[in-house]
Amino acid sequence: MNFELSDEQQLIVDTVRSFVENEIYPHEAEVERTGTVPPELGREIADKCKEIGFFAANMPEEFGGGGLNQLDFTLLERELGRASMALSVYFGRPSGILAACEGEQRERYLLPSITGEKVDALAMSEPDAGSDIRGMKCTARADGGDWVINGSKHFISHANIADFVIVFVASGEEETSSGPKKKISCFLVDRGTPGFEIRSGYESVSHRGYHNSILTFDNCRLPSSQMLGEPHSGFELANRWLYATRLTVATMSVGRARRVMDMVVPYCVERKQFGKSIGKFQGVSFKLADMITEIDAADWLTLSAAWRVDKGLPSNREIASAKVFATEMLAHTTDEALQIYGGMGLMSDLPIERFWRDARVERIWDGTSEIQRHIISRELLRPLES
Ligand SMILES: Cc1cc2nc3c(=O)[nH]c(=O)nc-3n(C[C@H](O)[C@H](O)[C@H](O)COP(=O)(O)OP(=O)(O)OC[C@H]3O[C@@H](n4cnc5c(N)ncnc54)[C@H](O)[C@@H]3O)c2cc1C
Repeated sequence: MNFELSDEQQLIVDTVRSFVENEIYPHEAEVERTGTVPPELGREIADKCKEIGFFAANMPEEFGGGGLNQLDFTLLERELGRASMALSVYFGRPSGILAACEGEQRERYLLPSITGEKVDALAMSEPDAGSDIRGMKCTARADGGDWVINGSKHFISHANIADFVIVFVASGEEETSSGPKKKISCFLVDRGTPGFEIRSGYESVSHRGYHNSILTFDNCRLPSSQMLGEPHSGFELANRWLYATRLTVATMSVGRARRVMDMVVPYCVERKQFGKSIGKFQGVSFKLADMITEIDAADWLTLSAAWRVDKGLPSNREIASAKVFATEMLAHTTDEALQIYGGMGLMSDLPIERFWRDARVERIWDGTSEIQRHIISRELLRPLES
């Protein structure tokens, strides 16, 4: 066992930390105020990310990506997590699932995503199918050599800036011992495809400026060449690739919590009440002790889950543990930080209330805390059940 970062890992951490501090922090207050990111600023961040050689760092080297393993990429995203989500989304990290592109899909989707010419979004959730993804009602019907898609998706992150969307739809049903089960297929759908519309979604208290969209499909006809993977293999594709998004949420939560600590510890020294720094009061200093302990625990849980992925070890439970623990830690850390800042913590003059608001969504998206607990407990119980 070795907990030390290699020189290369340290370089990744230092480079991304310096990037977020110099290229992203200065724009955060304005994005908070306006709720938007000007397109030219988004492009500027993407271009600078390319200059430092980290654009598409998660994608395979053979297609021009950075080829980082999961652990190194998790370290990168931990630093990125310090920054505003609305801005850090331009630090290009295409969906890893695009590595499943075959034939001309590689030219049309995979390669342009790696060079930054195209941006993807990923759509599973529907108004009536959130945690229960198999309950989805958006369908794909085979028609001649084509597929015809009908239905809608909602909550789709950054689809407003996407050139195409990776969409999961129900493509049939099969009988299983536990009753009928929907078969799922995955499609690559270009913005502008007839019958496909991307509309503005809801206003969220978390991550102002990072928008979600509603997608509608009205007899949207797609050639079978738009299907990612084999027909009806959408669930297997999702299971194979989408673990990474839960690690993203976990590690970005750790990064954000560390940024909060960077602010709150000096504040405990500077802020004086009753003639003393508030950090001298045990009621405050013990909060700090608990906060840093939880942050370190979440960090190690997340990094060790990423390490397991690289080793090819079973990691489903460990990733779920990292996601649930890190996101609940972030909620606690930001809430305690706000308490330590007192009334000023609630005011938008400081970013503390933003960190507190932003933390709320982390326990919901990419599988709620309850669903992560299902995954964890299922893995414990299943081997013992007959
Ligand atoms: C801002 C935002 C962005 C998002 N971006 C995307 C995106 O880009 N792409 C995408 O596909 N989706 C996206 N989502 C959707 C997100 O993944 C879902 O919100 C999440 O999976 C939960 O689904 P739901 O909101 O429908 O809640 P529901 O599934 O309706 O759950 C409601 C409550 O019931 C609980 N619950 C449900 N089932 C169980 C159970 N079996 N046991 C115990 N408790 C249960 C949940 O934990 C939750 O507390 C986004 C969501 C948000 C808020």
